[in-house]
Amino acid sequence: MDIKLRPHHLLCTQGYQGNGYSKEFVENMNQITARLRSHEPVKIRLVFSTDDLCRCCPNMLAEGLCRTDDKVTKFDRKIVAYFDLKEQEYIYQDIVTEIQSKITPEILADICEGCGWYPVSACREKILKDRLHHC
Ligand code: SF4
Ligand code: SF4
Repeated sequence: MDIKLRPHHLLCTQGYQGNGYSKEFVENMNQITARLRSHEPVKIRLVFSTDDLCRCCPNMLAEGLCRTDDKVTKFDRKIVAYFDLKEQEYIYQDIVTEIQSKITPEILADICEGCGWYPVSACREKILKDRLHHC
């Protein structure tokens, strides 16, 4: 079955390094990122709501509702606007490659503004890759 991802999780799944909100969340995240990071194309469905990562997260209060909904829907809205994303199927590797080819440190900082992981995670390194060291 396709993996359901909300828009800003296209970024979080790149930066993830084994830390998360609970044991169950981390186990689920480990499984999903292992599939997404395969070299084989992986079909995903982008959903503008809670997704397959949210479903094991202690912050999911109900279907479609995160405890920090104002914040996470802002992350979603921004990445959707920057990359013209639609609620449809994508190949994860293709859409991630496209995002990586266009994203800048300024865009990433704007999308992720307010995320507690931003200062402590590998998101910048993983998402911006070599570009970070040349700018
Ligand atoms: S914090 Fe909110 S958006 Fe992030 S995984 Fe948990 S429920 Fe989903
Ligand atoms: S900084 Fe936060 S919102 Fe941005 S990619 Fe990392 S975990 Fe996701």
